[in-house]
Amino acid sequence: MPDSYDVIVAGVGGMGSSALYHLAQEGLQVCGIEQFEPGHQRGSSHGDSRIIRKAYFLDPSYVPLMHRSYELIEELERRRNVKLFHNVGLITAGVVGSAFHRGMEKCFATHDLPHACWTVEEARARYPHFNLPDDSIVYFDPAGGFGDPEAFVKAHAASALEEGATLMSDERMISWRADANGVEVRTDKRRLRAEKLVLTTGAWIIPELRKLGVSLTLKRKVQVWFEMADMSLFRPEVCPVFILKNRGGDFYGFPTLDGRSVKTAETSGGTVLDSADAQHDRLLPSDLQNLSQFMHNTFGALAGRAVAHQACLQTFTDDQNFIIDHHPETARVILCSPCSGHGFKFTPVIGEVLAQMVQGRAPAQDISLFRLNRFPALL
Ligand SMILES: Cc1cc2nc3c(=O)[nH]c(=O)nc-3n(C[C@H](O)[C@H](O)[C@H](O)COP(=O)(O)OP(=O)(O)OC[C@H]3O[C@@H](n4cnc5c(N)ncnc54)[C@H](O)[C@@H]3O)c2cc1C
Repeated sequence: MPDSYDVIVAGVGGMGSSALYHLAQEGLQVCGIEQFEPGHQRGSSHGDSRIIRKAYFLDPSYVPLMHRSYELIEELERRRNVKLFHNVGLITAGVVGSAFHRGMEKCFATHDLPHACWTVEEARARYPHFNLPDDSIVYFDPAGGFGDPEAFVKAHAASALEEGATLMSDERMISWRADANGVEVRTDKRRLRAEKLVLTTGAWIIPELRKLGVSLTLKRKVQVWFEMADMSLFRPEVCPVFILKNRGGDFYGFPTLDGRSVKTAETSGGTVLDSADAQHDRLLPSDLQNLSQFMHNTFGALAGRAVAHQACLQTFTDDQNFIIDHHPETARVILCSPCSGHGFKFTPVIGEVLAQMVQGRAPAQDISLFRLNRFPALL
């Protein structure tokens, strides 16, 4: 194994596996360092399902990135001969007149995206088993659906290896240092050198960014699988992904993947952690409280008992937009990660963007929303 590369990618999770693939595909000698193994369940990219959608209420600038992500997902599916995206549709409900409602209308005014907008009565007529509050405005996104995050990470990592990338699993980056000739990376097993370093260390990037003055919040979120009385209503053929933002919090869920349970989780809520290594997978009574209430309120007697769970890390910037930028102290290092609980669907396109940035090319996508100079400490 060589100890010198064009690029080192530290952290081969959602973002890193995609970056590794795109860099290798562009012919660069690239090495990924992953402290566990690609597709593991201790970071932010696990739990069988992630929402994939085009309509974005947070900011319409995310939409062009998603157009490219959809293209890249199709390419990856063809390459690996595997289905990664399940286009079952998506319903999103929020309060009439809320920031969510305004955000959706702004998105549809900016981008020509096929969609339907329903009153609560129209939505109830289509999905009578969803008990939506009377003040709901409901959107249907026919482009929406879900993908399996572990499958995405493994597909990107396997494709990167096919393209000639080196992958060092069960190896932890301890430190890095940039100088005039490149970057030296020290792991718990060896020293490596590269021209450039991409830091896609997910929740483990927090100390690096806090040193720069960026304010971040790390949360432990729990995904819970519930038995349902009539599973036929939740088959992917008839049940879309759902995001419900007016249930005393923000919740979402998926059609059944195993025929026995439905996964749901809360976008709001979560427990603040001091560091990514403080993560644990024990189920606490407080993990179930809001979700059980949500399931009961939304599905009534159909909602059964919780049968499985998985804890996951979410790292939030204050404005919930991502961070993708050169390190302010050295252009040899690119920082990419805190994706505020909504980054997975962008992993295909962000990997491509990182490969362009590493080579000094202007990214084909507009990523100005993700620059570090929006944080006052870095102005
Ligand atoms: C419960 C939950 C639900 C979500 N739902 C959605 C959704 O529906 N749709 C959506 O688009 N997004 C969603 N997200 C967000 C999305 O999953 C994340 O934004 C995305 O997975 C982040 O990827 P990442 O590469 O930054 O982090 P990770 O995938 O965690 O990757 C970071 C990697 O770096 C490795 N690493 C860290 N430090 C080191 C080191 N020093 N040396 C070597 N390796 C290291 C870690 O082991 C890890 O593999 C959700 C997140 C969670 C937790």
